[in-house]
Amino acid sequence: MLALHRAAAATARTPLPGLPASLFRAQLQASALTIKRGAADFTHAVVGGGAVGLAVARKLQQREGAATVLVERHGSVGTETSSRNSEVIHAGLYYGPDTLKTKLCVKGKKMMYDICQKYAIPHRNCGKWVVAQDDAQMDELHKVNEFAKKIGVPTNFLPLEEARRLEPDVRARKGILNSPTTGIVDSHSYMKFLEGDFEEAGGICAFHSPVTRVNPINGGAGGWEIYTKAPDTGEETCITAETLINSAGLAAITLSNSILPAERHRKPFYCKGSYFSYSASGPRPSVLVYPAPRAGHGGLGTHLTLDLGGRIRFGPDVEWVDAPDDLRANGARLPEALDEIEQFLPSIERDAVGLDYAGVRPKLGRAGATFSGGQGGFQDFYIRKEEGFEGFVNLLGIESPGLTSSLAIADEVDELLYG
Ligand SMILES: Cc1cc2nc3c(=O)[nH]c(=O)nc-3n(C[C@H](O)[C@H](O)[C@H](O)COP(=O)(O)OP(=O)(O)OC[C@H]3O[C@@H](n4cnc5c(N)ncnc54)[C@H](O)[C@@H]3O)c2cc1C
Repeated sequence: MLALHRAAAATARTPLPGLPASLFRAQLQASALTIKRGAADFTHAVVGGGAVGLAVARKLQQREGAATVLVERHGSVGTETSSRNSEVIHAGLYYGPDTLKTKLCVKGKKMMYDICQKYAIPHRNCGKWVVAQDDAQMDELHKVNEFAKKIGVPTNFLPLEEARRLEPDVRARKGILNSPTTGIVDSHSYMKFLEGDFEEAGGICAFHSPVTRVNPINGGAGGWEIYTKAPDTGEETCITAETLINSAGLAAITLSNSILPAERHRKPFYCKGSYFSYSASGPRPSVLVYPAPRAGHGGLGTHLTLDLGGRIRFGPDVEWVDAPDDLRANGARLPEALDEIEQFLPSIERDAVGLDYAGVRPKLGRAGATFSGGQGGFQDFYIRKEEGFEGFVNLLGIESPGLTSSLAIADEVDELLYG
C-alpha cells in the first residue's frame, strides 16, 4: 500500500521536469510515510488540471491508500477551457435520452449545488428562460419540455403576462420555458476548492509538466510510464503510475492517438465560441435567457448569461477553427449576434456590446450541441476504460456541459476503474 502523509503534497509539489526523476522520487519518498506498492510512483496519474481532471483526481485520491498525481502543462489549474466558458450550471435539458451527457449533467448539477452550498463556493441558482419567437421555436420548446418531464428535470411554461411583469426587458413573442434549476458558478473558486481538497488529502499537483509521451508497460498491466519535458530546459522526466486518466481537454485526442493503435485514432474538431461584453447600465435581466435550440447548431445559440457580479455577457457564437489555440475572440459575427440578441432583448444598446473572450469546444465531430431528436449529428461525451489497455481511462469530447458534470464524471471514472 502506498500512503502519503497529508503534508507531503506541499513538500513534493514541485514541477516534474525541473527535477531529475531520481531526485523527484527521492523527494517523494522522503515525504511519504510508507511506500510499499509495487514499483509505481503513483496509484493514479491524471493528465490535465481543468475542472474535470481536478474533480477526477480529487475523487481518486479519496480512495484508501491512493497516491494521485495531477500532471498539468501550465503553471496553475484551469487556464484553458475551464476558464473560458459560460459558468452555467446546466439543468440537463438538451442532451437526449440514454446519453452520458444527460446522466452526468443531471447528477453533476445536484452534486455541484451541494458542494457549493457546503463549502461556500460562490454560485447562484438564478434560473433560465428559453424563449420562442415563432411557432417553429415553440415546437422546439415543447420538445424540450417533454424531454425534461421524462427525465425528471423541472420545467414550466411561464404565462407571457407574468413574464413581462418579472422581466419587462425580455421579449418572447410566442412562449417561455422556465428552467428553475439552472444556475451559475464561479468556476475559478470551484477549481481552487477542488485543488485544495485534493492536496489536503495528499494528492500532488505537478505544474509546468507537459506530458510528451506515455508508455504502457505490458499493455498497462505493469503500469504506465509518463514522460514530461521541461518547457525551459527540455529535460525529460519519467514517472510511473498504476493507472492513467486522460483528461487533457483540447489535447486529449492527441494524447489518446499517441497510445491507441491507428484504427482507434480519432480526428479532433475545434469549435470556437466568442463572447460579447455589455457596458450599458440597462437592460439588466436577472435571469439567463436562451433562444430555442436549433438542430445541428454547434452551440446553444447566442444567449444572455450573467456572472456573479450581475454583469451581462452574450455568446458564445459558433466558429469552426483548425487549431485548439485559436483563442482570439472574433468580432466578425457581432452584427449577426446583435440581431439574435435583439430578438429577445429589444432595448439592447448595440454600441455598448463589445468583444470579450473566447473558448474552444473540444469536439468529436462537426456536430450539433443539442440532441434535437437525433438530428444534427449529436455527439456524446466519450468516457471509457480502453479495451486492451489495463488501467487507462480516456475522456474525449468533454465540451459543455462538462463543467456542470465534472463531479459526476469523477464518479464515473472511479466506477470504471473500481466498480
Ligand atoms: C465556449 C464554451 C462555453 C461553455 N460553457 C459551459 C457552461 O456554461 N457550463 C458547462 O457545464 N460547461 C460549459 N462548457 C464546457 C466546459 O468548459 C468544459 O467541458 C470543461 O471546462 C472541460 O474541463 P476539462 O478539465 O476537461 O478541460 P480543460 O479545462 O481544457 O483542461 C484540460 C487541461 O489539460 C491540460 N493539458 C492538455 N494537454 C496536456 C499535456 N500534454 N500535458 C499536461 N497537461 C495537459 C491543459 O493545459 C488543461 O489545463 C463550455 C465550453 C466552452 C468552450
